Amino acid sequence: MKFNSKAIITILFAYIIAQFLWWEVLLVRQLNQLINEKQKILELSISDEVNLRTEIETLNKSRINKSIMIVGEGTIFLFLLLFGINKIRKANKRELELLNQKNNFLLSITHELKTPLATMKLQLQTLEKHKLEQSKQQELIKIALSENKRLNGLIDNILLAANMQHNNYNINKEPVNLSEFVLELLNTNFKNELEAKKLIPEIAPGISCSIDKIAFPSVINNLIENAIKYSPEEILVTFKMYIENNKVIIQVIDKGIGISDNEKESIFEQFYRSGNEEIRKTKGTGLGLFIVKYIVLKHGGKITVKDNLPKGSVFEIELNTV
Ligand code: ADP
Repeated sequence: MKFNSKAIITILFAYIIAQFLWWEVLLVRQLNQLINEKQKILELSISDEVNLRTEIETLNKSRINKSIMIVGEGTIFLFLLLFGINKIRKANKRELELLNQKNNFLLSITHELKTPLATMKLQLQTLEKHKLEQSKQQELIKIALSENKRLNGLIDNILLAANMQHNNYNINKEPVNLSEFVLELLNTNFKNELEAKKLIPEIAPGISCSIDKIAFPSVINNLIENAIKYSPEEILVTFKMYIENNKVIIQVIDKGIGISDNEKESIFEQFYRSGNEEIRKTKGTGLGLFIVKYIVLKHGGKITVKDNLPKGSVFEIELNTV
């Protein structure tokens, strides 16, 4: 018969608990025997009826008190034992999850680095070998540049995450016109999506906020890239920014695959990706949201995710105004 470690641990714990309960029963039985013996001795040695009754009553009180003590102490010890076992079980589970996430990360990162390199190589070889029309050349260059941008973004994320993991990343905030800053960012990084009307910006003008101009674009880039990546091709993504109760609210709203309730916290962990790496179709490393949350918290803000009804997700950031 084949046992896995989980089954062995369960059997071991069940055995410890059974042993423990049995030990309590034995102690109470022994106590009863001892007190019965004492009672017999008292009956033989005391002839005065009233005196004997008082002594037996005292003996019975002591029996009850000692039984309560054995059961009470045993129960507290049992609770502490179960509490400890539960803690060990949770830590063990967490360790396994982390190991799994790291393995997934290695699998995905190898794939993620190789794919854009291979695509760029193919475009350049085609340009080198064939005399193509100007428009075709432009098309190939555009693909190579977009792959280059993806590779660049990926390496930025890995470097950022490495610094953040060791808490080595310092934020230098300065006041900016956030509306202008974000609009420019969208026009540079999501030009195609804006032109194709796949990304709809709704940005209130003149919003002032203190941000780190180097780190903050990673927040917007990662959230919009995810919204696009986890949505079907034809479906649009809305980017909203406005002031509410003296706070800057940024929302990235998609109508994509959505996020289940039990994953809404885990997605912000480093390396976390839902599903299994070997069968997953979407590209990624599980670093994006870890970086986003880190930067938002360093700005003194907060980030939440909720369902977009009937379908998709809403990532919301709240920041202080200047
Ligand atoms: P990556 O996208 O590289 O896997 P992220 O840290 O950006 O890593 O995201 C972690 C996980 O959260 C993703 O693997 C995906 O399962 C989920 N996720 C993130 N954004 C969305 C979204 N807009 N819609 C659905 N799922 C999402």
